[in-house]
Amino acid sequence: MKIYIDGEFYAKEDAKISVFDHGLLYGDGIFEGIRVYNGTVFRLAEHIDRLFSSAQAILLDIGMTRADVMKAVEDTVKVNERENAYIRLVVTRGVGDLGINPYLCKKSSVIIIVGDISLYPEEFYKNGIAIITSSVRRISPDQFDTRIKSLNYLNNILAKIEAVQAGCMEAVMLASDGYVAECTADNIFVVKKGIVYTPHSHGSSLEGITRGAVIDAAGNLKIECRENRLTQYDLYISDEVFITGTGAEIMPVTKIDGRVIGNGECGPVTASLRKEFWKIVGINK
Ligand code: PMP
Repeated sequence: MKIYIDGEFYAKEDAKISVFDHGLLYGDGIFEGIRVYNGTVFRLAEHIDRLFSSAQAILLDIGMTRADVMKAVEDTVKVNERENAYIRLVVTRGVGDLGINPYLCKKSSVIIIVGDISLYPEEFYKNGIAIITSSVRRISPDQFDTRIKSLNYLNNILAKIEAVQAGCMEAVMLASDGYVAECTADNIFVVKKGIVYTPHSHGSSLEGITRGAVIDAAGNLKIECRENRLTQYDLYISDEVFITGTGAEIMPVTKIDGRVIGNGECGPVTASLRKEFWKIVGINK
């Protein structure tokens, strides 16, 4: 494994950053999780746009152009000779002193890791998964806009702890106004009477790249898809629920807080969106 750090490639054992990097000390930095399918980086330009928007929002100078970052990602995939992989692209504030002042960090660091994808068991996609609603609310946009994909994931991690303690792999997080925001590392969709709904970001959820691909897939299939306000009630009474993310792709949810959704299997609309998603990705499944 060859890891990119600031223009150089390092073996895994030698890929190290300073303990004074504010990415470590304060979670001061941003990241992207990206998939490689059959040697092609999926929606790379969109990931780079989101990365640069996150950087703009937190006044972080990446020190590279978009084209440079894209090339660095592609080069790292190439040197690692990977056809299918998960890429972690990280930009930290860089080395500073022990105070939080980001202006004392001279130069940001760009790190690119091309690693394995931890695939979920096929039965999760067939039978769906059970999730819970977390008691941890998503941070409100007046505190921190969660469209920024920052290195500080503690809000999500606290909700993930609740999910794991309940024996689930995901949890729904409500926004501060009580409406559904997203899951700890995935966006959420519901299907009711043939119409697909997903919460509008409203600054309380990440604008997922997979979410965007699902909205495109629905458009291709002429299935109506609306960004709407959703409550827990909307989740409970829906015909189908699924979550989306770079790792999970499109995963059906068949139980929420003990309520069975649909017939306990992947629903027909979710199944056709999954098929169309594979077409968009360019994979024969
Ligand atoms: N929400 C959160 C909080 C996330 O961390 C992620 C990424 N894992 C997503 C949604 C899904 O986004 P994407 O489709 O870009 O992976």
